[in-house]
Amino acid sequence: MKETRIVPEFVTAFPAELEPGHLYVSARFSTAAHLCACGCGREVITPLSPAQWVLTFDGTVTIWPSIGNWALPCQSHYVIDHGTIKWARNFTRDEIQLNRESDHRILDAVPASQGRWWDRLLRRLTAR
Ligand SMILES: [Zn+2]
Repeated sequence: MKETRIVPEFVTAFPAELEPGHLYVSARFSTAAHLCACGCGREVITPLSPAQWVLTFDGTVTIWPSIGNWALPCQSHYVIDHGTIKWARNFTRDEIQLNRESDHRILDAVPASQGRWWDRLLRRLTAR
């Protein structure tokens, strides 16, 4: 069954069995996990970082950008917005390819360690 709501669970490590309708958030590993909102039962892992997914919590949970499960058979695509699943249209094969390429470009542009990124920005800003 398609989910319409998702509630956050803040955990250190993810449980072996994820419950549908729950978004497990591990601050320690900067990662969130949930069962695909389409109801297919597959696990969806979203690494949290400025270059990947950004999670905001205000009592409800929001993840941006949208979650496109292109690698899953369902290829579902949705946004988690204030605890609500907002379904987005499915992408075509070309759009999925473009999306993957742009994801890689973003990841290439931002190093894994934000500390280093800030260091480099600071150096660039202060260099004369
Ligand atoms: Zn699915």
